[in-house]
Amino acid sequence: MTGPVRIGVSACLLGEYVRYDGEHKLDLCITGVIAKFFALVPICPEVGCGLPTPREAMRLEGEQDAPRLMTVQTRIDRTGQMLDYCAAKLGEFGKMDLCGFVFKERSPSCGISAVPLYTGADSVVATAGLFAREIRRRFPLMPLEEAERLNNPEIRERFIESVFLYHRAHLSAVACRTN
Ligand code: SF4
Repeated sequence: MTGPVRIGVSACLLGEYVRYDGEHKLDLCITGVIAKFFALVPICPEVGCGLPTPREAMRLEGEQDAPRLMTVQTRIDRTGQMLDYCAAKLGEFGKMDLCGFVFKERSPSCGISAVPLYTGADSVVATAGLFAREIRRRFPLMPLEEAERLNNPEIRERFIESVFLYHRAHLSAVACRTN
């Protein structure tokens, strides 16, 4: 593993026009502060799984342990498409030695914890987006954070430290495997 420490970032946070409405969500804390420490790898799972930009808004529906990614108006189930993308790409992310991830909060794909899951007519609970959930499943120790929270200096500092620690642990693991 050589070069700068790499982390994945939801591509819309880096100013890429990949959101469902054709816009971006450029986050100056990430491009101005986090970028001083890490090389940022932009990833948009919705575009990556083959959806166009702009596209119909989606939301999560169903059970906590098996949420479905549904288009809001036309009721198309995109779950399989997203999970196929994750299955194909997560190994690739491992090979890129990503040591952390910053996600766009509340996205049904990228949010980590406060994404609305519609479990019934009037019932909404908080969950993780499908892509973030798969990242967490595959890389359980990797530091993950939501962009909004990184505006808090303490949380930001903790995240930066955790990424460096993860990177160091990862380097040691690679050295052990090659010795
Ligand atoms: S939140 Fe995630 S899926 Fe949505 S536009 Fe940004 S990178 Fe793409």
